Amino acid sequence: MDVKSGLIFQLVDLRPEGVCLRGQISFADLDIQEEDRFSFPAALEYDLLLTPLGQNDVLLRGALQARIAIVCDRCNSHGELQLQVDDVCHQYKDAFGKILDLTPDIREDILIVFPQHFLCREDCRGLCLQCGEDLNAGSCACESAAGAQPAAAESRPDPWQGLDKLKLP
Ligand SMILES: [Zn+2]
Ligand SMILES: [Zn+2]
Repeated sequence: MDVKSGLIFQLVDLRPEGVCLRGQISFADLDIQEEDRFSFPAALEYDLLLTPLGQNDVLLRGALQARIAIVCDRCNSHGELQLQVDDVCHQYKDAFGKILDLTPDIREDILIVFPQHFLCREDCRGLCLQCGEDLNAGSCACESAAGAQPAAAESRPDPWQGLDKLKLP
């Protein structure tokens, strides 16, 4: 089976078994910019299969993988998150003889799984609101003294909840 890299190409013909598209694309090329709380230590990896569909259409299926470096929203420590898309599925009509640019759809697919909140770990306890102590390292003095509730993990919505839903077929 043919293997191509690159997400922009002219589609002349396509054998019934299709063509594999394997490679990497930088987030800059996807037009996704780094921000204060996240950056991209590596390019996004794609592993896709383009197959003919009917007379003139093509079907793109496959998976994407990326990792992003984050600063934790609760405790400000640095960490990494894995992003995974297993159900890439796009259809292109009248695709033959044209330049096919898969970049916008790949961009959209990875943005869907992009977290809204960044946590070093799901149960990060964050910093004490009063003294700023990292509560992952242990209890601070104010907690035991006043019985005060620190930035409790339970009081915030779980940012992974939406992600889990999206992974369902
Ligand atoms: Zn944290
Ligand atoms: Zn404290």
